[in-house]
Amino acid sequence: MAPPTFEFDFQTTGGNFTGKVAFSAGLFINNEFVESVEGSTVELVNPTDGKPLGHVSAATDKDIDIAVKAAREAFEQRWGTKVPPPERARLIHRLADLVEQHADELAALESLNNGKTVFVSRFVDVQGFVNTLRYYAGWADKIHGKTIEVNDAKFAYTRHEPIGVVGQIIPWSVLGMFAWKIPPALATGNTIVIKPSEWTPLTAIRVAALAKEAGFPKGVLNVVTGLGSVAGAAISSHMDIDKVAFTGSTLVGRHILKSAAASNLKKVTLELGGKSPSIIFDDADLDKAVSWAAFGIVFNHGQTCSAGSRVYVHEKIYDEFLLKFTEKLKSLKVGNPFAPDTFQGPQASETQFKRIMGYIESGKKDGATLHLGGSQHGTEGFFIEPTIFTDVKPDMKIMREEIFGPVVVVAKFSNDEEAVRLANDTLYGLAAGIFTKDISRAIDVSNKLKSGTVWINEFNKVEVTLPFGGYKQSGIGRELGEYALQNYTEVKAVHINLSATPPI
Ligand code: NAP
Ligand code: MG
Repeated sequence: MAPPTFEFDFQTTGGNFTGKVAFSAGLFINNEFVESVEGSTVELVNPTDGKPLGHVSAATDKDIDIAVKAAREAFEQRWGTKVPPPERARLIHRLADLVEQHADELAALESLNNGKTVFVSRFVDVQGFVNTLRYYAGWADKIHGKTIEVNDAKFAYTRHEPIGVVGQIIPWSVLGMFAWKIPPALATGNTIVIKPSEWTPLTAIRVAALAKEAGFPKGVLNVVTGLGSVAGAAISSHMDIDKVAFTGSTLVGRHILKSAAASNLKKVTLELGGKSPSIIFDDADLDKAVSWAAFGIVFNHGQTCSAGSRVYVHEKIYDEFLLKFTEKLKSLKVGNPFAPDTFQGPQASETQFKRIMGYIESGKKDGATLHLGGSQHGTEGFFIEPTIFTDVKPDMKIMREEIFGPVVVVAKFSNDEEAVRLANDTLYGLAAGIFTKDISRAIDVSNKLKSGTVWINEFNKVEVTLPFGGYKQSGIGRELGEYALQNYTEVKAVHINLSATPPI
């Protein structure tokens, strides 16, 4: 049987062009879309109205085996050190051009599937993907080891070699996460078996077709859609995958690490959850701090790993901050992700919707004050009102656990030391924000925060050139920038003996 096909109509972000796209939604292995061995599929749901969207193939361990064989053969014969680095760069640039040419279509598809606004899909996710592809295309021919002085009896050098077959497992902000995963792996010469989220596989499937059009040899990029507990688990426990790069929850990250340990000790990098604090000092520019703190929590509907979900405000300005912050959140329009004035669309899935509503209930039950929102927005789809809790105790679930939705807690502090202590009082350590006009204070506090990213007078602004990753239980390793190259290379030390004297 043929794999399922997917059809949809879209409008460009300017609204002046409508297109119809139909494509195969099979597993992409060896540059072909194929049905899964067992013919399994998953049904997708439109988060805006809760109605069925269509089907895509669902891989089982048999399909993962086939994809890994394809990737292994490609690595041995057609990619890695078999290809001159400028050729890898050329292909990655070509893919960037094709993604750019299809930007409106990809943005519409991403918004249809996961509910983020089409503006964010187009100008953050798709544009971010294009930028990241170009950035790592630039690295493809600049990866090199060193010669290292030892002594006159030895000449030694290092090689930075591709690791081999890389498994990648990503959550449902697909293009954004594709952007972090695929480009550095390809630039360094690895081959890929990537599994997007079961809820949002559509743009990954389209990008696979574009990679073929760009001219990547077969088997270099394989996209296997399907369930985490089946396809994802098969990747993390596979004996012939050399490395797995995962983005998702800390809970599943732990599983991945265990499966890697129990199988072939594959290398693992993890980008996990967060409960990121913003600290608003009493000398901050209040209006700007309000704006960034609001952006910090409701950007992408709170579904960012670095969401600023704990906001600590100096007691002197707490009341004024809370008033302005509340007004700001109220002013942001929640609604159809395709409407040009929408800031916040639906949450990506019903599961997430219910999880977030469960956290809101737990906050109320634990005795926190529900200051704003707290309910479903509208009557259909997975929309949630921007929600503020105050009077939240440090041990309440809504203060400790990642909610991954538009729910923020606002709390007071009275001095710098207390602010640092509260900010660091978490299992996570992904990101933090500091708002102050005092540069010495900003640097002093940022040095004391246990966090992979510190933003000063901004929040949630990721740069392709800067590393991103977590302290503590927010992850292992760094993505983006030059640092991400380390995730995808093995270092080999070569010793050349120059001495004429034998050892014994
Ligand atoms: P998730 O449930 O952990 O899922 C992430 C991916 O893992 C999905 O593809 C999922 O497949 C798969 N998966 C699930 N169970 C698995 C298993 N047993 N073995 C292997 N793979 C498995 O996370 P999510 O709910 O989609 O995403 C939200 C989380 O991602 C949040 O915690 C957020 O902080 C984190 N995140 C982190 C970053 C970062 O850079 N640090 C960026 C974005 C998001 P299914 O879709 O089928 O479940
Ligand atoms: Mg999941």
